[in-house]
Amino acid sequence: DRDYIGFATLPEQVHRKSVKRGFDFTLMVVGESGLGKSTLVNSLFLSDLYKDRRIPEAIDRVEKTTCIEKKTMDIEERGVKLRLTVVDTPGFGDAINCEESWRACCSYIDEQFRQYFTDESGLNRKNIQDNRVHCCLYFVPPYGHGLRQIDLEFMRRMHRKVNIVPVVAKADTLTSAEIKRLKNRIMADIEDNKIQIYQFPDCDSDEDEEFKQQDRELKACVPFAVVGSNTVIEIAGNKVRGRQYPWGVVEVENPKHSDFIKLRTMLISTHMQDLKDVTQDVHYENFRAQCISQISQ
Ligand code: GDP
Ligand code: MG
Repeated sequence: DRDYIGFATLPEQVHRKSVKRGFDFTLMVVGESGLGKSTLVNSLFLSDLYKDRRIPEAIDRVEKTTCIEKKTMDIEERGVKLRLTVVDTPGFGDAINCEESWRACCSYIDEQFRQYFTDESGLNRKNIQDNRVHCCLYFVPPYGHGLRQIDLEFMRRMHRKVNIVPVVAKADTLTSAEIKRLKNRIMADIEDNKIQIYQFPDCDSDEDEEFKQQDRELKACVPFAVVGSNTVIEIAGNKVRGRQYPWGVVEVENPKHSDFIKLRTMLISTHMQDLKDVTQDVHYENFRAQCISQISQ
């Protein structure tokens, strides 16, 4: 049913114990201001879908520093607890100099790794709160012709620390042909610059054909062309999140209009556990190895 965002399907992905205890997921959103980050986050999670449901204190804590804003919400669906943190980085790219832009994100990510590393070597190792950043949605402007210097610089600095998932912001401002062209350019730029964005895992060979087809479509979709909106519009008696234009409505959750649903399903349901695993096994291990080699020097 459409009132659920769907992470309750997670038990298939995770060990029962962690389901009972609940689990942590942190998403970072990065991109210059005005690209629709806050709106998309709102559309993804804080939506009015939650308005009439009993989610106690949907937003528990909002922490704000100069450039990093962190929102944590505890969501429960069908007995599965998810502690979701969204780290927003307002003002990215607004600085005159590119360097400032990635530095704040970089130190935030490192700081979470460091905290985890400290906790792991402490006495209370069983109850570590995992604040590590599991995924970074990187917003590429729709009006360019691919990745700019600032985008490449950010990705180069971060791709060994976090799972980068690029998205094309405000996709409703482009035609289908333009989206296709821009997506191709972005992927070519990523490849030419040897940037390692999040790799979707290969699907098991024993999966059925339908599943494999979905998996192929998902991979072909990257970078996801997204549309966000804080407005709920009524169409033929149905309330939908959309953007009203003089000629009609762009529906956020209509797969013909954007890749929003694909992105949300990927993040919340099908690939959340893999994003966590890669964070632990690859990015955190890198960090830990560095720490240990520094200590032993
Ligand atoms: P942020 O600075 O990246 O957090 O951007 P905001 O979410 O505050 O959005 C900035 C402006 O862009 C607002 O006026 C939004 O209504 C608009 N906006 C957000 N998402 C979209 C989108 O998907 N398409 C279009 N056309 N406009 C959007
Ligand atoms: Mg914002």
